[in-house]
Amino acid sequence: MRSPTPAEQYPFAGQQLPCYVAGEFVSSGQTFPNANPVNGRVIATVTEADAALVDRAVQAARAALRGPWARLTLQERCALLRKVADRIEQRFEEFLAAEIADSGKMLAQAKSLDIPRGAANFRSYADLALARASECYEMATPDGRGALNYTVHKPVGVVAAIAPWNFPFLLLTWKVAPALVCGNTVVAKPSEETPSSAVLLAQVMQEVGIPPGVFNLVHGFGPASTGEALVSHPDVAAIAFTGETATGAAIMRSAAPTVKALSFELGGKNAALVFADADFEAAVAGTMRSVFSNCGQVCLCSERVYIERPIFERFVEALAARARALKIGGPYEGADLGPLISRAHRDKVLSYYRLAREEGGEIVCGGGVPQLGDERDAGAFIEPTIVRGLREEARCVREEIFGPVCHVAPFDSEEEAVRRANDTRYGLCAAVWTSNLQRAHRVARQMEVGITWVNDWYLRDLRTPFGGAKLSGIGREGGMHSLGFFSEPMNICVKL
Ligand code: NDP
Repeated sequence: MRSPTPAEQYPFAGQQLPCYVAGEFVSSGQTFPNANPVNGRVIATVTEADAALVDRAVQAARAALRGPWARLTLQERCALLRKVADRIEQRFEEFLAAEIADSGKMLAQAKSLDIPRGAANFRSYADLALARASECYEMATPDGRGALNYTVHKPVGVVAAIAPWNFPFLLLTWKVAPALVCGNTVVAKPSEETPSSAVLLAQVMQEVGIPPGVFNLVHGFGPASTGEALVSHPDVAAIAFTGETATGAAIMRSAAPTVKALSFELGGKNAALVFADADFEAAVAGTMRSVFSNCGQVCLCSERVYIERPIFERFVEALAARARALKIGGPYEGADLGPLISRAHRDKVLSYYRLAREEGGEIVCGGGVPQLGDERDAGAFIEPTIVRGLREEARCVREEIFGPVCHVAPFDSEEEAVRRANDTRYGLCAAVWTSNLQRAHRVARQMEVGITWVNDWYLRDLRTPFGGAKLSGIGREGGMHSLGFFSEPMNICVKL
């Protein structure tokens, strides 16, 4: 076991994390504890925003739409966002420590993905916004003089940005950066499990001179709390939400009376299809990543792995051998698999491990809780698990579990593989492993999802559309798609 060095210490140890409203940090009112999932210890308390504070945040954001922010040119806004990215990089170690303490995620991952991507979101949306062209149509008119139509992109208004706990900083900035670059103002709500990196972001916003009210931060819970107060607020114009499908449905209900624009990135029950002609080693390694990354807490993780029958037994054996060899441990121990986000989430995942047995599945490996023999046993660690032998109707094959677990099943034909992969109410992503080029294109296209990877997984170009089909989401974010959601296009028609 290795503990963080002094340089890796949590920046808010023992403190009360504030909200950030109208350019000021606010620490009054109720608090809730912030626990470290590695050992369950409370590391800080968090200021909970009640409905009155949410209202103040929304009013500040609304006022800021008419303040100095509105008078900045696109170039000036982009320059400010680049300063945000620079400052995040200057304070990289603090962001890293905050994210790791809240989520228990592995140092190597947070260092190479979560925090750098958070900074990159500000730069890449600044680049994209500057590259966005405006439509222009010349039209004929009966008097022969003609008219010119052009489009201007205006802000939508106050945006609520609501993020989950699995990639707290990456997913929050994925919404905040394009919202701001388009001239909107934001009220952000991170998950109550992972509030710290958002507080650092608020500090950065203040440090680089983002005008008061442009970025606001409220902490708290979802239903009947901060989240609900925010998404039902009449002065919020748009909601960009990533989280569970059921939460998306609840938000939709709250948003309906005031007809808000919605962008939803929701849950998944993603399939990986491994054909017998695939590069075996690459497919095993890629499937390991796609099942166990971030302890299975990635919306894009494969929870259903379909393998062509001739290689099924060998593939499952190889996968299980690697899963058994995964080193379980804390963020700073060079481990492969960290804890889940909380004990409550572990209880949920364990209930599916039990259910898999009750539904007639065979546990190939894992299925329980590891004994680590020290304070980590009070944390949220769980064994990586592979299940086989479940029927397609089993709840474990149909419901999102969101842990380090997959069900493996053989298939006999391409048609069967495609049918079973698509036999779900979700439609986020798929991974197809094959060395047959024609099959790769043919199968990829038939997947009823927002993204298909061929011979890889979670390879992201930030310019591409990201989102889900079916119950996995509404709309697309990423690249120009995000700029589209966060802008109100306005046609101006000039008679010549
Ligand atoms: P939740 O849906 O539980 O929560 C997401 C956010 O919504 C949290 O900030 C939560 O607050 C808030 N919230 C909950 N209820 C409401 C409400 N009624 N009104 C307003 N806000 C509310 O998701 P998790 O945090 O558990 O994240 C895991 C889920 O996210 C998985 O289903 C996963 O698939 C999905 N996900 C999807 C991605 C995608 O791109 N499609 C990417 C990453 C994750 P609080 O937590 O404080 O209750």
